[in-house]
Amino acid sequence: MTVQHQYPLQSLNTFGIKAHAEYFSSFSSKEELIELLGKTQKPLTILGGGSNILLTKDISGTVLKNEISEIEITHEDNDCFTVKVGGGVVWHDFVMWSIEHNLGGIENLSLIPGSVGAAPMQNIGAYGVEIKSVFQELEAVHIDNKTVKTFSNADCQFAYRYSIFKGELKEQYIICHVTFKLSKQPQFNTSYGAIEEELKAMGARKSLESVSQAVINIRQRKLPNPKDIGNSGSFFKNPTIPKAKFEQLKTQFPNIVGYPNGEQSVKIAAGWLIDHAGWKGYRKGDAGVHKNQALVLVNYGAAQGSEILSLSKNIQKSIQETFEIELEAEVNIL
Ligand SMILES: Cc1cc2nc3c(=O)[nH]c(=O)nc-3n(C[C@H](O)[C@H](O)[C@H](O)COP(=O)(O)OP(=O)(O)OC[C@H]3O[C@@H](n4cnc5c(N)ncnc54)[C@H](O)[C@@H]3O)c2cc1C
Repeated sequence: MTVQHQYPLQSLNTFGIKAHAEYFSSFSSKEELIELLGKTQKPLTILGGGSNILLTKDISGTVLKNEISEIEITHEDNDCFTVKVGGGVVWHDFVMWSIEHNLGGIENLSLIPGSVGAAPMQNIGAYGVEIKSVFQELEAVHIDNKTVKTFSNADCQFAYRYSIFKGELKEQYIICHVTFKLSKQPQFNTSYGAIEEELKAMGARKSLESVSQAVINIRQRKLPNPKDIGNSGSFFKNPTIPKAKFEQLKTQFPNIVGYPNGEQSVKIAAGWLIDHAGWKGYRKGDAGVHKNQALVLVNYGAAQGSEILSLSKNIQKSIQETFEIELEAEVNIL
């Protein structure tokens, strides 16, 4: 629990951006965190796995890294196990734990980088599943008054890549534990993406292990590994537009990719927009757009966060001019 000065953050963010924290410390329990809150230099920035942030400058005040790492089964009934997980547990390790214990619900979320504590922040999702479907509650500490509060599923106001912690409670709470309800009788959700095809190619029967492995195989083929090339996954959210606007765009861009989102709106594939506007594979200095995934901005080595940010703004401007659609960053800009 020592507080360090001028701490390098390059290895703690998946973009691999060089930046320093004025002060840095980690905590392994709620009690340690509360003690730290009384003596650290403000403002505070909470860090999990650093896989959804873009560091555009050195961070003043204190960066606190969540290392609460226990996994505890707190309840069992006929259908489910309730599992309380420390915010510092690596998300994928928890997914593997659930599969080893034969518990279903998060197998489609295999290999998403980052920590359990950050997962509710943007209601992580992939392959037709979001954590809100298995989330029961979380326990968080208020940064200023140090009180501990429990938030239910409804309290979190989960939506697509959103929770109350990105909205009205932004930067007010530190998530310490998250409790999930995992199923003893898994209901497989393999209709999304290429999971069925992958299972066929693997010659595998549907099981928690095989669905997880199929997702891992697809993700490893599709997404750049931050160990090889700095990135934070999808840089932008897929925008939602009114159905009428989608119909109108379709006359101009017949191949535009969109999925119904309720009766009156359509979710557009941001990657298609960026690709169609000519950005895929673009590179300036060490900041670029991935050559196969237009939604992923990359650091080829020595890019500064400000260069990635400037590239993201140019892309937003170009998408606005070409399609009159506003792209919103999914990544948290610090
Ligand atoms: C290759 C790649 C693929 C990805 N694929 C997906 C995907 O399929 N689906 C998806 O949803 N996301 C995806 N992501 C994004 C990312 O993995 C998730 O958003 C993940 O939950 C971030 O976790 P983290 O611990 O790294 O958060 P960080 O990047 O450390 O933090 C993210 C934000 O949450 C805050 N925060 C972190 N921990 C806490 C806490 N305990 N309490 C309060 N605030 C906190 C931080 O201050 C910051 O604002 C991907 C990222 C990469 C690099």
